Amino acid sequence: MKDIPQLDWATLPFGYQKTDYNVRCTFTDGKWGEPEVSESETINIHMAATALHYGQEIFEGLKAFRGVDGKVRIFRLEENAKRIRESAKGLCMEPVPEELFRKMIIKVVELNARFIPPYGSGASLYIRPFEIGMTASVGVRKAVDYLFMVLVSPVGPYFKTGYAPTKICIMREYDRVAPKGTGRWKVGGNYAASLSAGERAHALGYSAVLYLDPKDKKYLDECGPANFFAIKDGVYITPESESILPSITNMSFQQLAADHGLEVQCRHITVDELESVQEAAACGTAAVASPVGEIDDLDTGKKYIIAKDGKPGPVTTMLYNHLRAIQHGEEPDIYGWNTVLDI
Ligand SMILES: *Cc1c(COP(=O)(O)O)cnc(C)c1O
Repeated sequence: MKDIPQLDWATLPFGYQKTDYNVRCTFTDGKWGEPEVSESETINIHMAATALHYGQEIFEGLKAFRGVDGKVRIFRLEENAKRIRESAKGLCMEPVPEELFRKMIIKVVELNARFIPPYGSGASLYIRPFEIGMTASVGVRKAVDYLFMVLVSPVGPYFKTGYAPTKICIMREYDRVAPKGTGRWKVGGNYAASLSAGERAHALGYSAVLYLDPKDKKYLDECGPANFFAIKDGVYITPESESILPSITNMSFQQLAADHGLEVQCRHITVDELESVQEAAACGTAAVASPVGEIDDLDTGKKYIIAKDGKPGPVTTMLYNHLRAIQHGEEPDIYGWNTVLDI
């Protein structure tokens, strides 16, 4: 057994950090092979592969946590297994069987156990499964061969300077995805399409872009690479849209909100409605919940001040703490969201 790496868990970025192993599996001749363990950080790919030319690339993101009892918990991996199959169907790729997905995730976490940050560090092991089209093709068509692999990387706490509200902006000249396009799937190309808007927002001092629905530009859609929710008079509201990626964090919050007696509404939210919400946040695996303090509409010049006292709202904070407590084994996991490993 190798030593525990000498990493400063608290200051680790959300980025790539080399670990010991990754796990790979190929689909060729119409079937999935046996998963292979690799120590190599590179892949061998044909220069004409569909992933490189026609964007056949999909991915997932989930985390493993070291809990209060010393055990390791992987959060809701069954949901990621289902979602990547939907993404595969969306891009005419070969869906990975759920059981294979599960087996490979557990394997890569076990193999890299020494990189799982200790309980209390605020850090976690980020798990990145992805699938690419491998067939050489210059004509536009789907691949027949696929590679599915999983890499992991320890990542530091999301809020380096403390859990605090940020400012986001609305800019109507950008869309992340098309109205009936690929927004509902976890596709690398959606990220490529959102980079220029994100860069512009960051340069202006905003943490993310709050996109509007790409058809009518009337309703709130995604918040950068995260889902959006707001709290309005005791109701958890989150946008309903065909171009949103169904966030597992958002899904979990909706359950917890209902359990705490809040009504949950998944519906259209107009920009004007931001006047009357008491709390707003972006949510996703990376941050869990990132409170939003102010939303500036750069086209109309209107500023929606959500966190009037500059602090995260009480409901957002309660949901954030509850979800994190479940992930770390501090609160009962009544829905069986965690896969618990004794490693
Ligand atoms: C991954 C992702 C999210 C967050 O989903 P989680 O399952 O909560 O991590 C939200 N929006 C987009 C566009 C994403 O790619």
